[in-house]
Amino acid sequence: MIFPKIGSIATTSVVSIDINNKISDAMKKMFNNEHRNILVIDGDIFRIMRVTDILNMKSRDIDMDSSLKNIELPLVPIINKDKTVLHTLEYLNCEVEYICAVDDEGKLFGLISHTDIISSIDPDTLMDNFCLLDFLKLGKRAKWVNKDLKTAELLCDMAKNSFESVIVIENLKPIGIFTTKDVIRIIEKNDDLSKPISTYMSSPVETIGKDCSVKGALEFLREKHYKRVVVVDDEGKMSGVISQKELIATTYSRWALLTKEYQKELDEMNAELMHKNIKYKEMASKDQLTNLYNRHKFLRLFQSSHRTMVERENEMSLIIVDIDNFKKINDTYGHNVGDLVIVKISKLLVEKLREIDIVCRWGGEEFVILLPAVNIDNALLVAEKLRSSIEQLEIDSLGKITASFGVSCVHKDDDVHSVINRADIALYSAKTAGRNRVEKANSRATLEESFHK
Ligand code: GH3
Ligand code: MG
Ligand code: MG
Repeated sequence: MIFPKIGSIATTSVVSIDINNKISDAMKKMFNNEHRNILVIDGDIFRIMRVTDILNMKSRDIDMDSSLKNIELPLVPIINKDKTVLHTLEYLNCEVEYICAVDDEGKLFGLISHTDIISSIDPDTLMDNFCLLDFLKLGKRAKWVNKDLKTAELLCDMAKNSFESVIVIENLKPIGIFTTKDVIRIIEKNDDLSKPISTYMSSPVETIGKDCSVKGALEFLREKHYKRVVVVDDEGKMSGVISQKELIATTYSRWALLTKEYQKELDEMNAELMHKNIKYKEMASKDQLTNLYNRHKFLRLFQSSHRTMVERENEMSLIIVDIDNFKKINDTYGHNVGDLVIVKISKLLVEKLREIDIVCRWGGEEFVILLPAVNIDNALLVAEKLRSSIEQLEIDSLGKITASFGVSCVHKDDDVHSVINRADIALYSAKTAGRNRVEKANSRATLEESFHK
């Protein structure tokens, strides 16, 4: 479902006048443009002057040459032109038929009417099975008058009760319609108001059967550019009048409800997908047993840390940890206990290290630790602290568990493999020297060199 933006359905050629002008100027503008309303700009708020307001002023003998400021004019709601038509819903029940579309600075962009909204609705998305009779049952009654009523009397009534239109009937059958548009013509020509209303009404009036669906009525309105439908019963007698506004307010709010539910469903699906995405990403970068970074992720983390080290001219160190005689633990207590030892030691490493240190399960019972901004001497102290903590670790009744450490500094021209290589050689030395030890790597040693030692 696509909801058009307010800006795309608004009429941008708006007949407007500044509030500092005279009432008669506004009237002239309305007549010249054949408009029933004129937008009155009052600073950064907008008001509207309607034909019924003019009738009202005439009946109260207000001087038409006085300023628009002196009369009370209804405010027009404002809505940003980038919002969608869905946002107009809350205004559909207000008295005024228009909404001002404004830009981000609050400047007038255009005007939208219920007619604009209705022509942007796809009738297929509106419900089919709500018929006009259901509307009339809601108790909405239109004004209708006998064809012989004097025009002056009706105008008085229209001004007092702010009717926009009246259906003229004869023997209960609608024969014509009289709207504020006809009022403009009468005022302009200064016609004889003692004549019956049938003189000035527009005739004939098109009607629609009470069993027609709301969708049908909306299509009818859209096609004919009418603002209201006159509903008749099977004998062609007046059942009522339904305005475009009422039709939209009901159907649109149902539509909006459906859309909200649909949106909720979409949001839920989205949230679930995002959650899964995060999990998949984690799975791709974390080791399942220990929740430490895996080797793949470590390689990428090393690269970015190395870049930072070079940029900031920092030092950095790397430690390889390998649990001693781990095969024996597995053989004696079983694989599950072996797993438990790996988990306990990984937790201890994370606990003893800083937040910015990167701890990775390199494989089996081997861990690699990257220490950003730590020089080799401090890295040796860190390794010693870890060694001593592991030694003191009590896991069930397994007795003393130890690990060996190879520590190397990271050079500017190193890549991950060259550093690991040096640290590995140091680790090998620690193992051969009796395990449970920390060994410092030769600054530029290679595996080959160490074998030749
Ligand atoms: P050293 O002191 O020389 O390191 O002796 P070691 O026994 O620890 O040596 P080695 O690296 O040969 O043995 C590691 C063993 O760890 C071999 C393998 O079966 C076991 N292992 C590897 N991954 C896991 C794992 O995820 N869980 C368990 N329980 N055991 C593992
Ligand atoms: Mg090993
Ligand atoms: Mg080992």
